[in-house]
Amino acid sequence: MKNCMQWDGIMDSFEYLKEIVNRHKAAFPNRKVWSQINENPLKTESIDRLVKKGLKVIMHNFGSVYSGKSNLIKIENRVKGYRRDAEFFHELCHAWYGKELDDYCYNEQSPFRIYLSMCNNIIAYWIARQLRADPGMLRHAVLSFGLEPQIYDMASYLAFSENPADLNRQETFPFAEEHYQTLRITKM
Ligand SMILES: [Zn+2]
Repeated sequence: MKNCMQWDGIMDSFEYLKEIVNRHKAAFPNRKVWSQINENPLKTESIDRLVKKGLKVIMHNFGSVYSGKSNLIKIENRVKGYRRDAEFFHELCHAWYGKELDDYCYNEQSPFRIYLSMCNNIIAYWIARQLRADPGMLRHAVLSFGLEPQIYDMASYLAFSENPADLNRQETFPFAEEHYQTLRITKM
């Protein structure tokens, strides 16, 4: 068991992550992970399956990590809000996609192995950040694993507010349209 590499995809822009993923995909189009992502994506039903299989999520002191052996995700308890949820979904991606998406850095590192680990780390954040930005998915995953709901942006507000404003139904005035659009933006 080893902590996920933290170089790290959480704070990079989503566009940058997407570009790295696209480049990697163009260079290695035959990797099994691409078909896994297409054919068996991580969805809300996947969360139910992971729960059924006994996957647990606990908080601990240092680093976020998934262990297949222990069927356990550990999340660093100092991280809050967006970062906690991005790391949580990153580890869920490891649990769901398995060894094809492993970003373990092996001791006997070949340059290729390091490259692959780095790309897998980025791919996991690329998926994790899209899932986290979906309020339904965020709500389902956080509640299914008994994590504390935290509100810090639009997606988490829509996921957990007891009385969320429905922006799709809200009337807008032409002069306020731009402001309205910025409000709708969700951090990925
Ligand atoms: Zn990882």
